[in-house]
Amino acid sequence: MRLTRYFLPVLKETPADAQIPSHRLMLRAGMIRQSAAGIYSWLPFGYRVLQRIERIVHEEQQRAGHIPMLMPTLQSADLWKQSGRYDAYGPEMLRITDRHDREMLYGPTNEEMITDIVANYVTSYKALPLTLYHIQWKFRDEVRPRFGVMRGREFLMKDGYNFDLTKEAALHAYNRHLVSYLRTYERMGLQAIPMRADSGPIGGDYTHEFLVLAETGESEVFYDSEITDLRFGDRAIDYDNEAQCQAVLSEFTSRYARTDETHDEAAFDEVPEARRRTARGIEVGQIFYFGTDYSEKLGAFVQNEAGARVPLHMGSHGIGVSRLLGAIIEASHDDKGIIWPEGVAPFEVGLVNLRQGDASTDSACEGILRELEAKGLSVLYDDRDERAGGKFATMDLIGLPWRITVGPRGLANGMVELTSRRTGESEEMTPEWAIKRLS
Ligand code: ATP
Ligand code: MG
Ligand code: MG
Ligand code: MG
Repeated sequence: MRLTRYFLPVLKETPADAQIPSHRLMLRAGMIRQSAAGIYSWLPFGYRVLQRIERIVHEEQQRAGHIPMLMPTLQSADLWKQSGRYDAYGPEMLRITDRHDREMLYGPTNEEMITDIVANYVTSYKALPLTLYHIQWKFRDEVRPRFGVMRGREFLMKDGYNFDLTKEAALHAYNRHLVSYLRTYERMGLQAIPMRADSGPIGGDYTHEFLVLAETGESEVFYDSEITDLRFGDRAIDYDNEAQCQAVLSEFTSRYARTDETHDEAAFDEVPEARRRTARGIEVGQIFYFGTDYSEKLGAFVQNEAGARVPLHMGSHGIGVSRLLGAIIEASHDDKGIIWPEGVAPFEVGLVNLRQGDASTDSACEGILRELEAKGLSVLYDDRDERAGGKFATMDLIGLPWRITVGPRGLANGMVELTSRRTGESEEMTPEWAIKRLS
């Protein structure tokens, strides 16, 4: 992609109304544009990251055996009246009336709708276990939308729902989600710690929130510092194997880690003092097991092996897809700009031409661009007629993992420069070698 043909409206000044680094950087890097409080357009650069995050979520969900689908954003109020949440949800729900005076709403979540779908089609235990999910826009009329996409009113969420015959089977689904979430966040370069949480309006006894530690996080968290040494890594996991999933869950949840909602001073005091930590965190996901409440209210029953009619055991599992952009930037930036983890970088390489219009520099850049793209790498080529300082500042701001700098002086010796955004280290090498290093 050539920058002269792209749309990257970078801001020079720091936007005054943005209070936290990720919000400031997303505005400055031309990723988002607010259209109303808590509602954003995703400009091309931001949209690329959003898509990369979505793709990781899809891949990891499907690896765990979960099935993608898509439900609408607009819902009829009927099912919500049946579940009792139409009134309970309160002013956070955006209510809409259509031309026939029918009550509608912009979905804040989809338990009712998915349970109704399953109730209509699934009649036998033979169709179970079943986990369906979608990635769809939600609307919650938050009292205080703020921090950009971190607390939007319209936001993108992956929400998945498991349907099982027994509580044991549903808890396997719960464990499976916990494991798949660990993998998902790590692929985005994030450490998200599962913490015992409060079940809130959805109800149920089993729930964990996933928190990314960050000074700007809205939750207060308490944990045993040993937990930050844990990595899921690239270990092989068989998601159908309950013992394996259970073992991972135990490993990641046996140490003290709670949000302020469930914090227990007495239990925290049992953690050795040197390992006790109080910090702030960003909630990037949450998993629930809540039993048969929705299935009973919405009629999701099946015949079990003995022929008896039993309600399905359910859980729901959310990932804050659009919030993740903010969380990743909070966790990975410096005073010059964003530092994208490789897993979610919008382009892998930034190519900087130091002397646009100089025939040999231009042709060297064109060659590098062609070869990198032929190898399947995504490249943003800064081919603007601008001074070097401005080009470097833009590259640092937008945070691509690698920069190749091409100028007449280096080329005279057959060299270009390869720079890592994360370490800031630069090395001179031939263009061929730089291409080889990146591919
Ligand atoms: P919060 O406590 O931040 O209000 P929540 O607990 O109400 O979030 P859930 O119902 O658990 O949210 O939704 C699943 C995920 O969706 C959350 O873990 C979070 O990552 C994301 N999310 C929730 N509300 C918002 C929002 N207003 N803007 C962006 N993402 C959100
Ligand atoms: Mg909320
Ligand atoms: Mg919450
Ligand atoms: Mg939550």
